[in-house]
Amino acid sequence: LTQSQNPHIIMLPTPGMGHLIPLVEFAKQLILQHDFSITLILPTDGPISKSQNTFLNALPLGINYLLLPPVNFDDLSDDVLMETRISLTITRSLSSLREVFKSVVESHRVVAFVVDLFGTDAFDLANEFNVSPYMFYTTTATMLSIDLYFPELDETVSCEYKDLQEPVRIPGCRPIHGKDLPDPLHDRKDDAYKWVLHHTKMFKMAHGIILNSFIDLEPETIKYLQEAYNNKPKIYSIGPLTLMDKKIDDDGSRCLTWLDKQPRGSVIYISFGSGGTLSHEQIIELAIGLEMSGQRFLLVIRCPNERIPNGTYFNNQNSTNPLDFLPIGFLERTKGLGLVLPNWAPQVQVLSHVSVGGFLTHCGWNSILESVVCGVPLIAWPLFAEQRTNAVMLIEDLKVALRLKIRDNGIVGRSEISEVVKELMEGEEGKEVCIRMKELKDAAKKPHDPSTYLQPFTRGYQDFAKISKKSPLAMEAL
Ligand code: UDP
Repeated sequence: LTQSQNPHIIMLPTPGMGHLIPLVEFAKQLILQHDFSITLILPTDGPISKSQNTFLNALPLGINYLLLPPVNFDDLSDDVLMETRISLTITRSLSSLREVFKSVVESHRVVAFVVDLFGTDAFDLANEFNVSPYMFYTTTATMLSIDLYFPELDETVSCEYKDLQEPVRIPGCRPIHGKDLPDPLHDRKDDAYKWVLHHTKMFKMAHGIILNSFIDLEPETIKYLQEAYNNKPKIYSIGPLTLMDKKIDDDGSRCLTWLDKQPRGSVIYISFGSGGTLSHEQIIELAIGLEMSGQRFLLVIRCPNERIPNGTYFNNQNSTNPLDFLPIGFLERTKGLGLVLPNWAPQVQVLSHVSVGGFLTHCGWNSILESVVCGVPLIAWPLFAEQRTNAVMLIEDLKVALRLKIRDNGIVGRSEISEVVKELMEGEEGKEVCIRMKELKDAAKKPHDPSTYLQPFTRGYQDFAKISKKSPLAMEAL
């Protein structure tokens, strides 16, 4: 047997940078703090994007990645929801995944298999090869509570949740309006609903669920989860894990040079995550709203998508120039005041830059954690998935974000954008959310004991002292 002796973990991130980035940060902690090595197995539906490629090529020693052959989606219509697409990427990759999994198991001492919230169909492989299955949960404790309770909710409620008169009561969470539940729960007949139900029923197969949140963000819910689920699955709260990557491309360095020249705290950064898209009409309203606000801005823009708000989540190889969709004369008029970047910005470097004083976000969980770690106050503009649920938490519970009014036709108007941007950057409410965000930033700084990252695997690997590079005392406590 030529197995390498270091304990090895196989990780399966499902498509989307929002899944890949935090899982890799977790992997980095495991190789930095402990003697694990990691293989990432990535299912694909075509060539990987430029940003994914840059990211994967910068992985540190000890983390390998393998790309599975692309699955075929010719039979799917364009408006199939993201949750369905992601789930199908896994089920359609299972045979190639099994082959790769087998070869990794044969050549390494594999002690655990970690999937994310859409990867539960791969749990069977863990059983087949006698490896402990875990889940890395890429969003909030609130969402985890919703998901763990979802099979029961599905059985006890028969109408659409948005039609319920009373708010929905989820254990460990404050009552949530049906309309604020995540997108795939809004239409019981849609495949996305069925997929989420299918996955959440499988959550209990995980030996542990690793949650990227921390106690000061969601105290009640995390406490509830840890008390209610203390066996299978056990919940481990290890956040905030945010991108540490410092690699940037040419556009990225251009934007950081531009930020260097702006006054402290004066720039609002606007971005809709790795896949968010707006309609053309909405891009125009946003651009003019920013111009009307008179504030300095850094805007990341993608080509419009009229039908779905996550138009580039799966494929962002579009060759059309997104800047062509801005209002005529906009770039000239705002020269000096704003910078527009096509498709991608080095977000963590932007948020940690002293010139940035606010962030208009689609409320993806990684974006939220990054703003918390950098202490940047927010404007919440949820687009899809669980973002509306996250927005409610940011605005009503944590009070670190201002709300944007969305018109009945789904558009946020230019004057609304202008006023809320001005309020965040110059107004009284803006000051309040800023103070609150700085408090959260301080709370997020509390360092974790290195054993935090190891704890989930105590069942899969018994000889901890040998794999821990640090903190023998913490090991004793395990
Ligand atoms: N991101 C980035 N530059 C961009 C857009 C996104 O670096 O222009 C990163 C961002 O920092 C975050 C991730 O991509 O780590 C997006 O994850 P999030 O959960 O916020 O949203 P999702 O992409 O899953 O909708």
